[in-house]
Amino acid sequence: MIKKSVSHSIHASIDGLLNLVFPEYCGACNKSLSKGEKVICISCRFKLPKTNYHLVADNTLVRLFWGKTKVNAATSYYHFGKGEKVQNLIHNLKYHQRTDIGQLIGELLAFQIMSTDLFSGIDIVIPVPLHESRLRQRGFNQCDSIADGLSKELGVPSGSGLLRRIAATTTQTKKQRHERHLNMEGVFQSKDVICLQGKHVLLVDDVITTGATLVACAEEILKSKGAQVSICAIACA
Ligand SMILES: [Zn+2]
Repeated sequence: MIKKSVSHSIHASIDGLLNLVFPEYCGACNKSLSKGEKVICISCRFKLPKTNYHLVADNTLVRLFWGKTKVNAATSYYHFGKGEKVQNLIHNLKYHQRTDIGQLIGELLAFQIMSTDLFSGIDIVIPVPLHESRLRQRGFNQCDSIADGLSKELGVPSGSGLLRRIAATTTQTKKQRHERHLNMEGVFQSKDVICLQGKHVLLVDDVITTGATLVACAEEILKSKGAQVSICAIACA
C-alpha cells in the first residue's frame, strides 16, 4: 500500500517535472501546441463547451444548491462530459500535475466573474481542501492552482488552509444522492471562524457533480457571522 502510494507520487513528480520543462501539449486534446498557443490549443478553446453560467443568476448550478445551503452565485467554466476533452483536461490537472491548466482556468473564471455583478465583493478565494492522507498520496491539491489563478486576477488572497478536511471520505459513486449529503456532514472544519466573519468567500472546486462537498464546505463557512458564499469550478456535470 505504502509502496504503491510512494511510486504513485514519484510518478506524479516526474510528470510534473516533464510538464514544467515541456509544457507544449494541449491540456484538453493532448496534441502539440503551435507557436503562440499556451496550455489549451486555440481549437479546444473555441470548441470546449462553456456554460456562461456567470451571466445567469438562477442557473442550473445555483439551483443544485437550492434548499441545501445558501449560495450567492455559482458558475463553472465548462460542462463536464465523460470521455470528452473536458474530462481529459481535469485528468491532466489531477493526475499529471498540469497545474498550468488550473492556473489558466482560474484566470479565465476571474475574467468572467469580473464581467458581471452577480459575484460582486469577493473578499477571499478558498479551494476545497483534500484530506491529509489524500494530499500525501497525490502530492498536491488540484484546486490550489485554480484558486491561485483566481486570486491573481481578482486581486484578493487565496485562503488555502483556512478550511480543513478532517474526515477522509470513501468513494461515493454508488450511494444515493441523499445518503451522499448525509455522509459529508462534519467532514470540513474552518480553522479561523473569526477571520471569515463578514467575508464573501469564493469556494473553488475542480468538478461539481452532486455538490455535496461544496454544500459541506459552505455550511462550515456560513458558521462565521455575516459570511457569504459563492462557488466556481472548472466544470460541472
Ligand atoms: Zn486542444
